[in-house]
Order: sequence, then C-alpha cells, then structure tokens
Amino acid sequence: MGAYDKFCQSCGMPMDKDPAKGGTKKDGTKTQKYCSLCYEKGAFKDNFTSADEMVSFVKGKLKEMGYGSLKRWFFTSHIPKLERWQV
Ligand SMILES: [Zn+2]
Repeated sequence: MGAYDKFCQSCGMPMDKDPAKGGTKKDGTKTQKYCSLCYEKGAFKDNFTSADEMVSFVKGKLKEMGYGSLKRWFFTSHIPKLERWQV
C-alpha cells in the first residue's frame, strides 16, 4: 500500500467518495487504483494526455459544485503527482 492508495490515481478523488468504490478492469473486476468516473472496463473515460487537462477538468467540476477557488486549488494541487501522470 502506497501513500496515495486512498485516492484515484487519475483525478485525485478520495476513493471513499466514489459511489461505485472503484473503476473496473477489462474483465469487469474492480480496481481501487482509479475511480469509476475515470476508469471503466480497463480504459480511461477521458482522452486527457496531461495532468493540466485533468486539473482544468476537475476545477470546472468543483466550480459547478460550488467550491471556492481555494478549495478548487486544494483538491487539484496533487493531481500532477498521481500515478497516471508520471512519465
Ligand atoms: Zn478518478
């Protein structure tokens, strides 16, 4: 278990906030690495190629949900460190 195991390694959402409690692999089994909003049947649901794109996307979602700019920064600042965005 690594330090980030409790967070989706794509969008940074806490896994306990994921209603489906994890995405699904190609064979349909659950994975705790990515959330159900990012990952389905072994593939990412978005076409993002960089952490910046994910950060903008998540910030937009948070804004829709009514979060202020400080919270939006706080919830997205760790996204570039997540496993998906390491190259
Ligand atoms: Zn996610």
